[in-house]
Amino acid sequence: MPASLIQPEFKVKIDYDKCHKCGRCVQQCGWGVYSFNERPIPDDTKCRACHRCVTYCPAHCITIQKNDLAFRDNPHWTPALRKSVWRQAESGGVMLTGMGNDRPYLNVFDHLVLDACQVTNPSIDPLREPMELRTYLGRKPDSVEVETDGNGGFHLKEGTGVSNNIQLETPIIFSPMSYGSVSLNVHKSLAMAAERCGILMNTGEGGLHADLFPYQDHVIVQVASGRFGVTPEYLNRGAAMEIKIGQGAKPGIGGHLPGEKINREVSETRMIPTGTDAISPAPHHDIYSIEDLRQLIYSLKEATGYKPVGVKIAAVHNVAAIASGIVRAGADYVYLDGFRGGTGAAPQIIRDHIGIPIEIAIAVVDQRLRDEGIRNQASIIAAGSIRSSADMAKAIALGADVVAVGSAALMALGCHLCQGCHTGSCSWGLTTQKAELTRRVDPEWGAERLTNLVHAWSHELQEILGALGVNAVESLRGSRERLRAIGLDEQTCKILGVKPAGL
Ligand code: SF4
Ligand code: SF4
Ligand code: SF4
Repeated sequence: MPASLIQPEFKVKIDYDKCHKCGRCVQQCGWGVYSFNERPIPDDTKCRACHRCVTYCPAHCITIQKNDLAFRDNPHWTPALRKSVWRQAESGGVMLTGMGNDRPYLNVFDHLVLDACQVTNPSIDPLREPMELRTYLGRKPDSVEVETDGNGGFHLKEGTGVSNNIQLETPIIFSPMSYGSVSLNVHKSLAMAAERCGILMNTGEGGLHADLFPYQDHVIVQVASGRFGVTPEYLNRGAAMEIKIGQGAKPGIGGHLPGEKINREVSETRMIPTGTDAISPAPHHDIYSIEDLRQLIYSLKEATGYKPVGVKIAAVHNVAAIASGIVRAGADYVYLDGFRGGTGAAPQIIRDHIGIPIEIAIAVVDQRLRDEGIRNQASIIAAGSIRSSADMAKAIALGADVVAVGSAALMALGCHLCQGCHTGSCSWGLTTQKAELTRRVDPEWGAERLTNLVHAWSHELQEILGALGVNAVESLRGSRERLRAIGLDEQTCKILGVKPAGL
């Protein structure tokens, strides 16, 4: 019998007539695809199509092709399903993967279009007129009381209960990605870019490395079920805290950081032993009700002088009721993570089959909070494959205050969505702790690219707002009248609160 029934997914082709025999591809590939014997020799079985070697080959003589083997047609037994049976028959284990759900579920964003002003309602030129993207994250009062200062001026009356809000210069933050799942240089890039853009990054569940302390005013510190790295000092360093209940890529299960990624520095930051898998439990063992959640929210606030506390949940079937409970428990924001959200490691079966799209989750949560008269009491952060400024604008029109960007941020740093994050061998130096790979990301270079991405999307959002004839992103929030659906069924339009195009 052959060692494996599974044929390579990709073929590595080298044009040896052009090849310089320099060996750079051997060094660049994190997965050890190449050996070198007078010329590079690829082992196709290991290739993940990350394109690192292609990018760095000085002769441009490498191409990666799909290994398009013909399978007898069977719509029920796709080639992917057959391969997964063979793989599990070999391994006997749960199949792990990285990044987001790649199954061809309907992408609702791609079936929504935005409005534009024509003739009667003039559009606004963002190059000539001010366009406000500044957003405040946190609880807003339903009304405020003001008093005069005796000189014709006004100020807020003391004790009117305005909560701490966090000012964002644009409605974008970086998604939680833990130190351990990504490298320290990735964390530094995110933190530096967050500071430059006036936004926030998020530690994920891996604690806060001391190198990020200078950027702490732009960091959300996460409190997950494993409580890795959580101390009073950690909580007080953050601009806000986030209780992580769930993640879009793996709703209902805990976190898993393979032991290969836990080196000395990661272990010190997480306060766990080196080399052992870091498994965070599926539930928080002190949260079994909204009352328990409320206790933790207020414990965190008490510990930090009432800094904002958010709660992150995966988008699941009754997400609206859950979000309502979270807001009533005192959270300052609800972070909704849709089922296309990325991950450093997740069982593929969970990633691909559990949860709901972020578009639906935003719409039902925003509507529920409005119906209950508590929409002002918390901000909504939407995540789970926000791919462009258009997705951002549509998410905001559906009801989000802010979007969180994870996969796109990694792509800005070179990620090619090869889904090998769980292996710890990322050729681009992102989801790895191997020193020879992590040094590929220079934090200064990374921060510049991330800053460019945020600025580019912000400029595009201003263009979109101008076309819509509004001069502040606040005016777009929950403005579903400015969206139309193309090719969505009646029930989905109803759930989204969006009319079909033409109406
Ligand atoms: S895994 Fe990436 S670097 Fe390695 S051969 Fe394939 S494309 Fe090249
Ligand atoms: S990097 Fe390109 S030129 Fe250099 S050995 Fe590899 S294939 Fe040849
Ligand atoms: S982070 Fe690295 S390993 Fe993960 S998908 Fe991107 S390129 Fe692949």
